[in-house]
Amino acid sequence: MLVDSGAITEEQLQAALAGQKATGKRLGTYLIDEGVITEKQFVETLRMQLGVEFIDLNKASIDPTLTEIVPKDTARTYRLIPVKLEGNNLYIAMEDPMNFRAVEAVRQMTGRRVIPMIAYYDAITRALSVLYENEGAARAIEQMKEEQTTVTVDDLSDEMAANDDETAAPTVKLVNSLIERAIAEKASDIHFEPYEKEMKVRIRVDGRLNTMMDVPRELQNSVISRLKVMAGMNITERRIPQDGRAVVKRQDGTQVDLRLNTLPTIFGEKVVIRILMREMNTLNRHAIGITERDNERFDRILKNSAGILLIVGPTGSGKTSTLYTMIHELIDETVNIISLEDPVEFQIAGVTQVAINEKTGLTFASALRSCLRQDPDIICVGEIRDGETAEIAMRAAMTGHLVLSTIHTEDAISAIDRLRDMGAEPYLIAGSLRGVISQRLVRKVCPNCKMPVKPDPFTLSLIGMQDDGTVYYKGKGCERCFGSGFRGRTGVFEILAINAELRDAISEGKNGSELRRYLAKTGFTSMIENGRDLVRQGETTPEELLKVIPTIE
Ligand SMILES: [Zn+2]
Repeated sequence: MLVDSGAITEEQLQAALAGQKATGKRLGTYLIDEGVITEKQFVETLRMQLGVEFIDLNKASIDPTLTEIVPKDTARTYRLIPVKLEGNNLYIAMEDPMNFRAVEAVRQMTGRRVIPMIAYYDAITRALSVLYENEGAARAIEQMKEEQTTVTVDDLSDEMAANDDETAAPTVKLVNSLIERAIAEKASDIHFEPYEKEMKVRIRVDGRLNTMMDVPRELQNSVISRLKVMAGMNITERRIPQDGRAVVKRQDGTQVDLRLNTLPTIFGEKVVIRILMREMNTLNRHAIGITERDNERFDRILKNSAGILLIVGPTGSGKTSTLYTMIHELIDETVNIISLEDPVEFQIAGVTQVAINEKTGLTFASALRSCLRQDPDIICVGEIRDGETAEIAMRAAMTGHLVLSTIHTEDAISAIDRLRDMGAEPYLIAGSLRGVISQRLVRKVCPNCKMPVKPDPFTLSLIGMQDDGTVYYKGKGCERCFGSGFRGRTGVFEILAINAELRDAISEGKNGSELRRYLAKTGFTSMIENGRDLVRQGETTPEELLKVIPTIE
């Protein structure tokens, strides 16, 4: 059939049939994986030749109750999605509608006439996750729909509905199960986004947004009202943005802090929840990605009893995790550690934590001045954003305190330039700076769908590597990783201990490119080298590394 349509040649077909037998893959999957045809060609051929309808699952709205007709196990085993039920006709989306065994299994189990449709692999993966990983939420939605009928009859307003215990129960269940799943997925944020036809719920995992589920439009107001009640916001005010906080207790007894805020949009209020808990026990050198090679350097800069240690990188590069890890290692009953944070992400026993609040005038600079009167040994400044904070921090470092902080710049040398731009004198920088850690976060290949791949030589060359026969890995995309092929992230570091020569160069006011030339001669392990190790170990992909480290030396 594929041969007839001209998509592949007879020889390719014979080779594929042999290869398919050896690998145990289905023919279509084998051809696509081997790059003989594209998925689009495959879908198009089947559509033309078999007359199977194509369905774009990313746009289709699927009734969650269909999960009761086709249970999770069956859907996962055969990778199929129940799309709609019309009379006795059950439409199911599959990558390969010629998988008659799957069709037969569904027919026998449901007793319905099964009509296969074709869909893309990624879209099926995503739909499996959206439809089957939110069972608690889906049940709550059903309950809400049933009970809402009663509410409409009584003609209650949305606000009253949200406050009415009977009606609130399923809403509470829905909201709780969405938050619970987001925390379980280690998401940093949850977005409740109203659109014309439904409200999308997306979560940010490993820095990227993934759709968790679609909530029917008619339930939008009760969900938003519930979130606003949780956060102590005014639920009748829908035209201006609001901020609030909430604490949720998890089933295992742990508490999670949430920051909520609303934004009025054309389809109603959008709510974004920031999840503030990260497990303290996941924060250690190994977990954040410090390599064996960098261990000693990390020790060396942490052994300073005075001076400034800076962590630099763009937004979302994991600076805060590194900062917390360093604080954690420095905790000792014999020292006074004061930490100025905006916001305080979690509490650390043994550290005096201060929440910076610029609105009330408690800025980094003013808090830093006050804390110097509190007899500190180690001071942690969440971020150096202005010249005043930089100056006080450096003077504190010169007078015998160890100061840890972060700066939003590309790399170690740019941090020195940045301090100078803020008005810091070169002698002050040279005198106080002891170490700089630059970092990026790369996504790790999903262990659940990891597979060996042939690397693209051009991408390899861009990160300064060549195909030397090493086996490289990538994730194919599965429901555990929202089809992205990545799960979790790790840091890629560059640790610079300031030595006497570099100190002299800084105090002489040498510029960025001169300092870089000097650094190149000292032979320290750069971020890209650490990144290449991760690629070689199959922990990440060349493409991912290239994304976070755009320039090579
Ligand atoms: Zn995966």
